[in-house]
Amino acid sequence: SDPAVSINELIADPAEAVAAMPVVGAQHELILSPKALYGEARDNSAGLDLSNETDLAELAGQLAATVEADWHAHPLLADGNNDGETRPILNPADHRDVVGKVTELRVEDGPRAVELAAKHAAEWAAVSPAERAACLDRAADIMQARMRPLMGVIMREAGKSAANAIGEVREAIDFLRYYADQARRTLGPAHAPLGPVVCISPWNFPLAIFTGQVAAALVAGNPVLAKPAGVTPIIAFESVRILHEAGVPVSALQFVPGSGRLGAAMIAAPQTAGVMFTGSTEVARMIQAQLCERLSASGKPIPLIAETGGQNGMIVDSSALAEQVVADVIASAFDSAGQRCSALRVLCLQEEIAERTLTMLKGAFRELSIGRTDRLSIDVGPVITADAKAEIDGHVERMRGLGCKVTQLPLPDAATEGTFVAPTIIEINKLSDLTREVFGPVLHVYRYRRADLDRLIDEINGSGYGLTFGLHTRLDETVAHVTSRVKAGNLYVNRNIIGAVVGVQPFGGRGLSGTGPKAGGPLYIGRLVQKAPVPPQQNSVHTDAALRDYIVWLDRKGFVAEAEAARAYAGQSALGLERELPGPVGERNLYALHPRGHILLAPQTQGGLLRQIAAVLATGNTAAIDTAAQLQPVIADLPVSIASRLSWTADWAKDGPFSGALVEGERDRVETVNRAIAALPGPLVLVQAAATAELTADPDAYCLNWLLEEVSTSINTAAAGGNASLMTIG
Ligand code: NAD
Repeated sequence: SDPAVSINELIADPAEAVAAMPVVGAQHELILSPKALYGEARDNSAGLDLSNETDLAELAGQLAATVEADWHAHPLLADGNNDGETRPILNPADHRDVVGKVTELRVEDGPRAVELAAKHAAEWAAVSPAERAACLDRAADIMQARMRPLMGVIMREAGKSAANAIGEVREAIDFLRYYADQARRTLGPAHAPLGPVVCISPWNFPLAIFTGQVAAALVAGNPVLAKPAGVTPIIAFESVRILHEAGVPVSALQFVPGSGRLGAAMIAAPQTAGVMFTGSTEVARMIQAQLCERLSASGKPIPLIAETGGQNGMIVDSSALAEQVVADVIASAFDSAGQRCSALRVLCLQEEIAERTLTMLKGAFRELSIGRTDRLSIDVGPVITADAKAEIDGHVERMRGLGCKVTQLPLPDAATEGTFVAPTIIEINKLSDLTREVFGPVLHVYRYRRADLDRLIDEINGSGYGLTFGLHTRLDETVAHVTSRVKAGNLYVNRNIIGAVVGVQPFGGRGLSGTGPKAGGPLYIGRLVQKAPVPPQQNSVHTDAALRDYIVWLDRKGFVAEAEAARAYAGQSALGLERELPGPVGERNLYALHPRGHILLAPQTQGGLLRQIAAVLATGNTAAIDTAAQLQPVIADLPVSIASRLSWTADWAKDGPFSGALVEGERDRVETVNRAIAALPGPLVLVQAAATAELTADPDAYCLNWLLEEVSTSINTAAAGGNASLMTIG
């Protein structure tokens, strides 16, 4: 409404334009140009317009050139010794199409690569965070310039559609810029990296997840061993080459293509100081079992960031708009042939609308076209391997055997040249029929009664997974009720549940779905240095009554130092933080920090116990305290507001599962306790350990961030009748 501010100015420099705008109402909202969506901090990645004929013509030429190129992924080690066995990489959509070849590092050479990383660790650690971040920014620009050839590789090596390949390259670029920005803002000159970090990624996001892990570990100052998935090494090799070109030395980033056994051999190397893993829950457990056998040089459990699978549900009530539900379900379940960790596995329809919605859904489902993803008209591509196909087909047969109604699309003739699974809808009667993640184009549909909504949510939570969750409803009360009850890392309201955007919907699960911190979120880099920086936004936003009562009690009992520590924790804790993150208009993206859950405490001394309780209360959690140190008398007269949050345990397996653990003790004890915790059934437990002297001397001995749970919620505001604040735009 101010004639002095033109639209062009708004687009060219949003920050200045906002400053120039007269304040009229309580709130302004700008429609920013896509590139400027994230403000000054970083540029948004650019995509391609697949409906623009000029773009398409250029793309076609460049994709054709990538077919002719001689792609060869091979180890890139600091000593230049890059031998191994070579094998071809085939297009999963058509095995006659040889994409290129890979030379894999021999398993016995894995430990040598880690040794090399350790030998050169100090050189990379000495590079300032700003310089490391600049390398990432340069890599992002190179990747942006090479988007089309990179797409060509992804489409053939991973069987992705053009649209998904664009999304993948964009996500990798966003990760590079996001972590560069985070490092510049949060890593002070005193930060200390961990040491060699092994990054192990899956094939389903062979560029984005691979690059994201590597970028975060690198910018934090760690030398990285980057192991791609066995079937998608070529795109990962190209990512590493770009990072080298952007200034990261080979000694700081070594490329180690090979099997899972090579990954295991590197994890076992004594110099490995951290592991970043994305993949199946089963392999994450194996890695944890391996890591718990030793501690870091400073006597701490070795950090493992594990992002794993999900059993993702969506609840649709009778107020939802069926047309929109159908589009969002089709995208959530069948895009990428269901090979996204976030993909929808169980659609729960309120019984009154189930039949009608299912009829519409099946109508849309029958329109899906299946085939080689280098055709723009194709919606569903192949699954990655013959083993994956056999496993998914086996599941469908098992469900058929249980008497479930199965609807399947026919596969086209050309599908015989690759590994395709027919898109499938299975109507189930009990959620308990689903025992594990089925990683393919298979959607389960379950009908529920409105009166049973809470039981349904509890059952979804009861699976132990907690990655993504969707809700379709027009009722604000239902949104509030369901999103507060569901336990999942990423919640989506009135939209699809896939395609989390870096820094907009920080991504990651809880329980069996992962350890956190979230990828593309503000806490991630903190897990890759020895002491997490306290992000600048973290000043206390919470006043937990139990913590206040606790401090009063400590004062009254004369526990002066412990009361001091509890006050410090109260000031540091970011519990309750809620932020709206920048994103496109029409969507509201919230990031919040919640209590992590039930924490296992293993104290050894009175002071240790009292500090551990303070940390638990400051983060809103409950705790089970190990009885071994016989410290029960110390807290026998706690007020009930605190005591009700605590219990004692002599049998950890029975009293779990736990979502975190605080251990007090010297090296030997920490080793024993860490091993015992790793052997517990259920989710991977993030263990923090500190010696008694350290606890007394250092108020940050336990990092409160790791006792919190990050929750991302993305709401399609247009679906709920529009974003009223848009009307304030002049
Ligand atoms: P996978 O667990 O089979 O393999 C992942 C990686 O681990 C590969 O690089 C593999 O070579 C390596 N590996 C295998 N055994 C190993 C061992 N013993 N030690 C060390 N490394 C080993 O998973 P996948 O089939 O490649 O990927 C699909 C899975 O990934 C699904 O479960 C999916 O849900 C999950 N995923 C999760 C996320 C997330 O962010 N939560 C994202 C993408 C995929």
